[in-house]
Amino acid sequence: MTTEQNVLFTIFGGTGDLAKRKLYPSLYRLYKKGFLKEHFAVIGTARREWTNDYYREIVKETLTDLIISEEDATEFANHFYYQSHNVNDAEHYVNLKVLAEKLDDHYQINGNRLFYLAMSPNFFGTITQQLDQQGLVTDNGFNRLIIEKPFGHDYESAAILNEQLREVFDESQIFRIDHYLGKEMVQNISTVRFANTMIESMWNNRYIDNIQITLSESLGVEERGGYYDKSGALRDMVQNHILQIVSLLAMEPPARLKDKDIRNEKIKALRAVRLYKPEEVKDYFVRAQYGIGSTESGLLNNYRNEMNVAEDSQTETFVAGKVLIDTFRWKGVPFYIRTGKRMGEKGTQINVVFKNVPLNLFSEDVEEELPPNVLSIFIQPTEGFSLQLNTKKAGIGLETDTFNLKHKHSAETVANSPEAYEKLIFDCLNGDATNFTHWDEVASSWKFVDVIRQAWDQDQSELPSYQSGSMGPAESDDLLAKDGFNWHWNPALPNDEI
Ligand code: NAD
Repeated sequence: MTTEQNVLFTIFGGTGDLAKRKLYPSLYRLYKKGFLKEHFAVIGTARREWTNDYYREIVKETLTDLIISEEDATEFANHFYYQSHNVNDAEHYVNLKVLAEKLDDHYQINGNRLFYLAMSPNFFGTITQQLDQQGLVTDNGFNRLIIEKPFGHDYESAAILNEQLREVFDESQIFRIDHYLGKEMVQNISTVRFANTMIESMWNNRYIDNIQITLSESLGVEERGGYYDKSGALRDMVQNHILQIVSLLAMEPPARLKDKDIRNEKIKALRAVRLYKPEEVKDYFVRAQYGIGSTESGLLNNYRNEMNVAEDSQTETFVAGKVLIDTFRWKGVPFYIRTGKRMGEKGTQINVVFKNVPLNLFSEDVEEELPPNVLSIFIQPTEGFSLQLNTKKAGIGLETDTFNLKHKHSAETVANSPEAYEKLIFDCLNGDATNFTHWDEVASSWKFVDVIRQAWDQDQSELPSYQSGSMGPAESDDLLAKDGFNWHWNPALPNDEI
């Protein structure tokens, strides 16, 4: 049964890119499904001077692909109110409070408040303190805070930010977004593991050789050079999305599928990730920058020639690494991770590579290895699974062939499945923190990443480069080759094949 939620959203950064591209369409989808109905309102805030009418038009424009009727969109947009607001100005919170109370009364919201900070994390501390001091946090309903990445740029800055938030909100009220956790197939990892005896019984170092996680982007930094050059792939992708996926793959089965139980297991998995010593980093991690390349539409710039990127930038646009998890289950199983910009293909996939059978009975040479069984989980853009098996080639003799059992979500399922942001806002409205990152997870992830970052910052040698449009530098292949492995990568084909 669909239950309506009574809630007042206050969106800081209401004129920004995230609000327009993700938040307003997601709220509309929740409205269409009846989770938001009559007893909700949205206050959008930012510095610009906009009227309610103008704001509502902007909100409607963001819904173009979703709108069923103009009347319906107008009805939805009429729940939106704009308040010009400089987050650094204490006075402005007083106006915000007056409006919030008025809307609470009008829509009979009963004090439930969701504060969405869709702006630079520099402001998070100020905003939360002002929310408290100016009395915007209510006593009679729930008060929840959603915040966007990045959560700090290292452990220390993240800890300071966390302290600031915790002065006002307790951990159960803080919802740290990692939008990868809202993705259908990332959420499916637990189902595949815990709903299938065949898989869960083999999910350990007796049967698994290695696990590979690839998050590859085909685009370069585009207009985000200024931001990216200060961040780099390690902070931008590894600290959050990749380590979150590692924790879901590595965690022990939770006692129940409740947020506390799942997060406890993820925290334990992240704490078991081996922290490298600075001098070991070069053996376990490689970094690189994209060089030039070409496509049908012309030549591609190298990273240092991109807009707002330093000419002598040492920022990595590619990272590959080996993550080790010191638990009984995972002793000796490397988790290889890689992510980069301007790679050959856009796609996120996990490949679980199983150990070989002890002898190859199908070859003259019993030591000659058969292709391994590989379970692939396709996260995006294709959503699905494949399982690579060895079978007999049809015909005379006993020659083997590899065969892929495949399942791909239909285009219709993908189109109808909720957007990551829609799911995450829905979860937050229900107080379900499963798919948000707990502070202990953030802390462990930063501690792991900080060692690598510091080792790299001290190493002034020239960064390897990789050709734009490739799957990374040779050093990334070498990382696996020295352990006797290679990257598995099944390009996601547009039709039925994956
Ligand atoms: P943006 O620059 O488009 O928007 C920032 C918003 O903050 C604007 O509405 C601006 O008016 C407002 N703002 C800035 N200074 C202000 C002040 N002093 N007082 C009041 N309002 C002020 O940024 P964005 O792309 O929407 O990103 C917002 C946050 O979300 C950032 O933390 C970003 O890292 C994160 N994020 C964004 C995306 C995305 O797709 N855009 C994806 C992941 C995370």
